[in-house]
Amino acid sequence: MDNGDKRTYRIVSRNVNVGDLTLGGINPLFIQTMTNTLTADVNSTVRQIENLVRKGADIVRLAVPDRQSVQALTDIKKMLRKKGVEVPLVADVHYSKSIAEESARYVEKVRVNPGNFIAEQKGKKFSDKDFETAKEKIFDNIQPLLKVCKRYGTALRIGVNWGSLSERILYNYGNTPEGMKVSAMEFVEVLTDSGFYNFTLSLKASDVRVMQEANILLVKEMIEKDLFFPVHLGVTESGDGLQARIKSAAGIGALLKLGIGDTVRVSLTEDPVNEIPVAEKLVRLNPEIRGVNTVELKNIDFKVNSVSGDVVRLLGHNKPPVISKNDNAKADFIKKGDNLIKREGKGVVDIDNLKIFELENKEEDSETFLVKAAAGFSCSFLKDKVNAIYLHGKNFEDYTLEELSFDILQAMGLRYSKAEFIACPSCGRSLFNVERELKKLKNAVSDFKGVKFAVMGCMVNGPGEMADADYGIVGSGKDKVTVYKGGKPIIKNIPTDEAIERLRELVDN
Ligand code: SF4
Repeated sequence: MDNGDKRTYRIVSRNVNVGDLTLGGINPLFIQTMTNTLTADVNSTVRQIENLVRKGADIVRLAVPDRQSVQALTDIKKMLRKKGVEVPLVADVHYSKSIAEESARYVEKVRVNPGNFIAEQKGKKFSDKDFETAKEKIFDNIQPLLKVCKRYGTALRIGVNWGSLSERILYNYGNTPEGMKVSAMEFVEVLTDSGFYNFTLSLKASDVRVMQEANILLVKEMIEKDLFFPVHLGVTESGDGLQARIKSAAGIGALLKLGIGDTVRVSLTEDPVNEIPVAEKLVRLNPEIRGVNTVELKNIDFKVNSVSGDVVRLLGHNKPPVISKNDNAKADFIKKGDNLIKREGKGVVDIDNLKIFELENKEEDSETFLVKAAAGFSCSFLKDKVNAIYLHGKNFEDYTLEELSFDILQAMGLRYSKAEFIACPSCGRSLFNVERELKKLKNAVSDFKGVKFAVMGCMVNGPGEMADADYGIVGSGKDKVTVYKGGKPIIKNIPTDEAIERLRELVDN
């Protein structure tokens, strides 16, 4: 029975040590970020880490794509410690087991991607027996890394990304939240069977609702199996500017409000120092809840909410309406006393037919309200099935509350009112300047309402994670990109400077 005391249902995850920090349990939420310098460029990387720590980062991740970067890790760590910077470092490793094993000697945590931990044949059919065999193979493959981790006290993160699931998982589950959960749980079982418990998990996606569903499925299963490990939250490839902040707030914020999450990263295609203030606002959303209310969690289902017939009749669609107080606002309905009046044309909605998320802006700082509104709507959408948004109070400079309302609906994939952009934050693997190309792309194609565009720095995660984008560019060589349409490479390996123009031509054609 839910007696209103959320703590009655609190599930506290295991403690995991990452350097001097203890994650999970009743410990505070920690803020993570990632460098976007070339890791092998030791001086620039050290400078960026110092800035990030000064700004408030608790944990910093670095891309470790090659041996040169592993070597750089030792120098980076030495320089940082000499300067008194004790921040735990995380090596981000894909594909190479030997690089992961070597990195684990020098840093406090290593992130591995289950999707590329064992090689699997494309297009093959996978039986239950294949799944068992694969698990045994993963068990054998991971033992050398676990040996190093145990010896050096290094933690692991099992980092599952939508778009880079293994062939076997894709064959059985598709590119779905369920597939992400299965991939993570397979590793949870392998690690615990190996007597290794110092690890965290992350299930990230560029799609807010996919990321939320995957995390909720994971937490439910960990609770059921009594294997509850700390969870790191993030929305990947969220891009830059307001839309990126809104996506992270909607995705991460709603889960934090449900008690899920021990560390967070707001990933932005900007200078990574800009990630920290947004993350701070997110971790302040619900400081008193650290753990999951299982009753609340049980009631969440992911069937798409629809708005009432009354609204559909007036608007001609079943997407959540935007409500405003202001007669001249670009909204669906204007609130007059207890009535909702259609802004253009005629009609009044029976207000009892809508479940409205309402929030008044009283904040001094616009970013704080943006985070509260996006996280609040997203959490109420999951928990209470709200199907309309009504923000009122102080307007921002150059950005109305109605624009914010439409952007929140777009961030959650509920209603598109402009072009959609996804872009990786870039890291030590980037092959071109992602931030600059994203800006150019936004200028070139912002008039294509509802079309999804992507800018990805390299082939490691790029093609998979932008699989649902209509058009995109992915780094394919130093200052070279490949232009994609509908997930297929169309114009290969052209100079980055030509890419946006060629992409625009492709869209026009
Ligand atoms: S897609 Fe971007 S963030 Fe991801 S690994 Fe490549 S460059 Fe780094």
